[in-house]
Amino acid sequence: MFDLKKFEFWFIVGSQDLYGEDTLKQVAEHARIMTGEFDKDPAIPGKVVLKPVAKSPEGIRKIFEEANAAPSCAGIITWMHTFSPSKMWIAGLGVNKKPILHLHTQFNRDIPWASIDMDFMNLNQSAHGDREHGYMYARMRLPRKVVAGFWQDGEVRRRIGVWMRAAAARLDGEHSVVLRLGDNMREVAVTEGDKVEAQIKFGWQVNTWGIGDLAERFKAVSDGEAENIVKEYEASYELAPELQSPGTKRTAMTEQAKIEIALRALLEAEHAGAFTTTFQDLHGLPQLPGLACQRLMEKGYGFGGEGDWKQSMLVRAAKVMAAGLPGGVSFMEDYTYHFEPGREAALGAHMLEVCPSIAAGKPRIEVHPLGIGGKAPPARMVFDAAPGPAVLATVVDLGDRFRMIANEIETIKIEEVAPKEAAAMPKLPVARALWKPYPSLGEAAESWIISGGAHHSAYASALSAEYFRDWAEMMGIEFVLIDRNTKPVRLRDELRWAEAYWST
Ligand code: MN
Repeated sequence: MFDLKKFEFWFIVGSQDLYGEDTLKQVAEHARIMTGEFDKDPAIPGKVVLKPVAKSPEGIRKIFEEANAAPSCAGIITWMHTFSPSKMWIAGLGVNKKPILHLHTQFNRDIPWASIDMDFMNLNQSAHGDREHGYMYARMRLPRKVVAGFWQDGEVRRRIGVWMRAAAARLDGEHSVVLRLGDNMREVAVTEGDKVEAQIKFGWQVNTWGIGDLAERFKAVSDGEAENIVKEYEASYELAPELQSPGTKRTAMTEQAKIEIALRALLEAEHAGAFTTTFQDLHGLPQLPGLACQRLMEKGYGFGGEGDWKQSMLVRAAKVMAAGLPGGVSFMEDYTYHFEPGREAALGAHMLEVCPSIAAGKPRIEVHPLGIGGKAPPARMVFDAAPGPAVLATVVDLGDRFRMIANEIETIKIEEVAPKEAAAMPKLPVARALWKPYPSLGEAAESWIISGGAHHSAYASALSAEYFRDWAEMMGIEFVLIDRNTKPVRLRDELRWAEAYWST
């Protein structure tokens, strides 16, 4: 879906002229070996590009200026093999506009006890050089991720990979558009927000297109084109009996295929990576886009219901971060609770638009009336989300800043809570996920609500909270995590302290 190898990560190894040519040659050679090894490891999804050893203020500034101007450079990794006085880095770091990962490692794993001498100490002094380097990031208040450990260690590489995926999502957003079809749902507050600030912070252009543009494209799609897409449906999903040829409700599915074709063409024409719809503005369309939205999410587009462009953007970012990973990413909404003591759970769904990438089995296409929007009964995919760990993340606009709230959850099988005979929920024909949030349903809901979290979110079974934290850090927005260790009363105080931090 997304080729993460097209995102470059510049590897800058710091040193200085003090040590002489031989030492600098060895530094460059070690960095070359590391770059080669990183590029062979699937845990490192981006392309690592080695830069000349950084050893002077002018040279360092030049590398950062080149990185800013390089369209495929998604981020910069710095590592001090030797000591590199940090005043040399001020000019470069001052102009830098790319996300930073400070890798704190050393080339050798073990101390060579028998042969170690002062030459070895001078060559391998990251333990001290990276402290000088880290001081400058702290002194300049620069956002960055610090990863410490041996460079061949799997956990170190996994954490580099997480950051790379977040940086790829950031760069993707800088060249992307959230295509809004209609405005947000009338009177709803949390889906509103400052679109100018969003473009400044996230890079995303958030603009509106008339639903008429889509309706015109929809009318122009031929039956033959729609039938080709329906063949894909038949190959990939189960079809309810009345949808199989020549079923009475087949037309409803064919209409969604036409919406899918028309919407995809519009997204491609406008270079949009994400879109929103609203049931209050469907003039010229026969149904609310349901199946069409599910299909486009499955293909990597971000989606937000009722005009929720912030969550649409976030779903797209999560899709890029999750490229090639097991599990999926979807738009999601908290719907209703199960408060039975000891078996508390939350049921998430949406009117129609949940992405099949999170499904447990083969989704089934069905057609049912929708009690909202006043249009024809829409086709949609129905399924249960796969059980396992997942994360919910949402972005809200607090007026003076964006805040991301993330909650670690465990998605469970519906039959773990529902009686066996009713677990299929036969009268609820939408895709759904049942989860237990951490630390508990009550504490998670209190924490989410006290943070101002939306009813809409990006649901990711492919990602952990670390991805969202890294993304928020490089975007320069607040990040609030609700996990096993969260205490709502303490969180309330932390949110108050954060007001002071974010008002500076
Ligand atoms: Mn909604």
